[in-house]
Amino acid sequence: PRPGKLRGTLVGCGFFAENHLNAWTLMRDTPLEGVELVAVCDKDVGKAEAAARRFGVPHVYADAEAMLAEQKPDFVDIATTLPSHRALVELAARHGVPAICQKPFAASLEDAEAMVRACAEAGVQLMVHENFRWQHPLLAVKQALDEGWAGRPFFGRVQFRHGFDIITNQPYLAEDERYIIMDVGLHLLDVARFLFGEAGRLYCRTARIDPRVRGEDTATMLVDFHGGVTGVIDLSTATRTEPEPFPECLVRIEGTDGTIELEQGYRLVLSRPGHREVRPVDAELLPWAARPWHVVQDSVLAIQRHWVDCLREGREPDTSGADNLRTLELTFGAYRSAETGEAVAFG
Ligand code: NAD
Repeated sequence: PRPGKLRGTLVGCGFFAENHLNAWTLMRDTPLEGVELVAVCDKDVGKAEAAARRFGVPHVYADAEAMLAEQKPDFVDIATTLPSHRALVELAARHGVPAICQKPFAASLEDAEAMVRACAEAGVQLMVHENFRWQHPLLAVKQALDEGWAGRPFFGRVQFRHGFDIITNQPYLAEDERYIIMDVGLHLLDVARFLFGEAGRLYCRTARIDPRVRGEDTATMLVDFHGGVTGVIDLSTATRTEPEPFPECLVRIEGTDGTIELEQGYRLVLSRPGHREVRPVDAELLPWAARPWHVVQDSVLAIQRHWVDCLREGREPDTSGADNLRTLELTFGAYRSAETGEAVAFG
């Protein structure tokens, strides 16, 4: 275990980093957590300066290499967009600095494998900021499943359909040839792995409904899990309904004994013939949080706490780089299936 306070750094002070910064600040201000950000970096240095001022971070950089060389931090939190992920993770490995990397971890499986290898060879931990499985309602689903409510599960649906405008905050999403599977589908595939284990085969259909985006904005996947679950994973940003479900991830699991449902409104429903039980599983509203994002914001704090625990105990994070290779394999497999019209099998 590392003694003393962990000294962290962060690269990328954009839209979503706001949540990382708020969570690191809450952790800094909770002395038992033993962690603080000593520097922030953005190539647009004005954004780093603004973040440092707001969150009381002492050092500011425009260049991540200079930051790692001078600060020699205990870790770096990479909250930039995809194109910079490989270079920044390899930079962290060269400096012997453990790294967290936002999703999507990498643009190809080859890139992802190289990033995992670089960190393994440098002997530093690597975690993908794959926060969906850390959402409070999804942890409650996992707990009900592990407690055996459903018996042996044979069907699992993981769904994320909405019509909320996410492009205003993340304009880069509209320009990418690959849109919703790369942005959100990988979260759902990771949640499905978390709940049902590894997958053997996947078939996927996609469509583009909203002409303002370049890539697919709806996807439907049929997945065979080795453990015996047939999975349906469906997502859309073109759904028009009321009340707006964003950003709720809904789940239905059927097993030999009963059914577990995560319904809109953060209600966990456990049912069997003659029995129906509804539990509220909404997340805590953290001091900086705002609905409808509060469950996501709470999950950022949860995954950052998990990272600090793993660093201190020297163990592999649940969503390590190596673990994320399996999620990315399914993600790229989904695109391959959509393109070819064929199911894709995994080793
Ligand atoms: P953004 O464009 O608002 O911010 C990214 C910032 O990184 C920018 O300020 C940019 O100047 C900076 N940057 C890029 N390359 C850099 C480099 N090499 N060195 C220093 N600074 C660099 O993007 P965003 O919307 O905040 O998204 C960031 C990432 O977070 C994306 O990968 C996105 O998919 C992810 N994200 C995750 C969740 C989640 O729930 N896990 C939600 C939203 C976004």
